Amino acid sequence: MLVNKAAYGQSYSPYEGGYSVKEVVIIGGGASGLVAAIVAARRGAKVCLLERLSRVGKKILVTGNGRCNITNTQLKANCYHTSSEVYPIMGPIERFGYEETKTFFEELGIAFLVEGQKVYPCSEQATSVLDVLRMEAERLQVEILTDVKVTDLFYKKDGWQIVGEQGQTYASKKVIVATGGMANASLGCDGTGYNLLKRLGHQITPTFPILVHMLSSSPYCKMMMGTKVKADVKIEVEGKVMREDYGEVLFTEDGLSGPPIFQLSRIASRAKLEKQSAKVVIDLFKDISYDEMVSLLYERIARHPERSIEELFIGLLHKRIIVPVLKAATIVQIGRPCENLEYDEIARIATTLKGFTFPVEGTRGYKYAQVTAGGVKIDEVDLSTMGSLKAKDLYITGEVLDVDGDCGGYNLQWAWSTGFIAGESVSRNGVKA
Ligand SMILES: Cc1cc2nc3c(=O)[nH]c(=O)nc-3n(C[C@H](O)[C@H](O)[C@H](O)COP(=O)(O)OP(=O)(O)OC[C@H]3O[C@@H](n4cnc5c(N)ncnc54)[C@H](O)[C@@H]3O)c2cc1C
Repeated sequence: MLVNKAAYGQSYSPYEGGYSVKEVVIIGGGASGLVAAIVAARRGAKVCLLERLSRVGKKILVTGNGRCNITNTQLKANCYHTSSEVYPIMGPIERFGYEETKTFFEELGIAFLVEGQKVYPCSEQATSVLDVLRMEAERLQVEILTDVKVTDLFYKKDGWQIVGEQGQTYASKKVIVATGGMANASLGCDGTGYNLLKRLGHQITPTFPILVHMLSSSPYCKMMMGTKVKADVKIEVEGKVMREDYGEVLFTEDGLSGPPIFQLSRIASRAKLEKQSAKVVIDLFKDISYDEMVSLLYERIARHPERSIEELFIGLLHKRIIVPVLKAATIVQIGRPCENLEYDEIARIATTLKGFTFPVEGTRGYKYAQVTAGGVKIDEVDLSTMGSLKAKDLYITGEVLDVDGDCGGYNLQWAWSTGFIAGESVSRNGVKA
């Protein structure tokens, strides 16, 4: 692989000579940019990839907690989201879906490990995924220029001029913008891609962080900090249940985390953006009804009437959540014998166990988010080519677009699919003018 540092103030241009002609420049060496580069180069295009960090694919390394949840066996439409109400967004996934992704990566050397619906590389190391992408890019002589932050992009005469932060320019026939969103800026994504595309006439729908920890002012979060419970979790916005998920919830000093919380965080983040009230309701006993819960409590009281109210729950609840549950149910004097509990107190406890409620004030934001929702308006892009409908010979891939997926491999799949299609499109009819 040709990896160069960008030279300060240098101008690289196929028109001015002195530098190899680049037919395709890809801005952003993340998941979608690397796949686009490989696909275009396999089809004979001379590809140059510009990456602002010192190495490509840094974000890939942290995906799936370092294991890289590469895709999902069930790529269903209801796992993808956009703010566009009418535009079908599944085209790229249908075109380059699970089977195609499996074949693509298997050919690169990645064996798939399927856990439920989630798919990981058999090595369970995200580095393997990045390694095979880099090795293939190297084999194909993709030129990778690192430490190049692109700050401007404009069309001049018969090609694109791409301007780096240090004033250097690059020229190419076709450009793919693969700059990602704004999640986890330390991994390279600070939203510059939106500005580049806005200046070219694209509309950017409101962005917000998703797949992220939720913030709650509930005092019980701090009391239960570090505790995990398996529970059914609902999110309500303005009193209406919007979505439900099941899994392990982690209580933290400032709120809630864990897979179901991440899954519902899109709704919390959007509610915050729209200044709507949101709350999370946790059912600690999803398999039994409210009435069965009340009966269960009476049975436990009958078995050990001498135990205190607090002791009544030992063996039923994690020890660290007993007092918070009782406080939330406004039970006082929890040291008294449980046989003293009145019916309405038992009813309040059962209500809390079936719906422990946490107001949600927002999320921990882009810094901690895995993905950005919102972005380049999707109906301004031809999803069969990933070509911009606003500018000629411009293609857009991945998270910078207004499409996001649930937690579970859906976002990388969107990056692989759109990268593949753009890579094919830029090399479809030959790239030379
Ligand atoms: C902690 C974490 C865990 C995740 N885990 C998973 C998971 O397991 N499964 C899953 O499906 N998804 C996961 N995701 C989401 C997934 O990584 C992204 O959706 C995906 O990488 C987006 O691909 P992309 O090509 O659009 O952008 P990215 O992969 O983010 O790449 C964009 C690249 O562009 C570069 N860049 C940005 N601006 C410029 C510029 N102006 N000039 C030059 N270069 C620029 C960046 O440095 C970056 O390298 C995770 C994300 C995070 C943060």
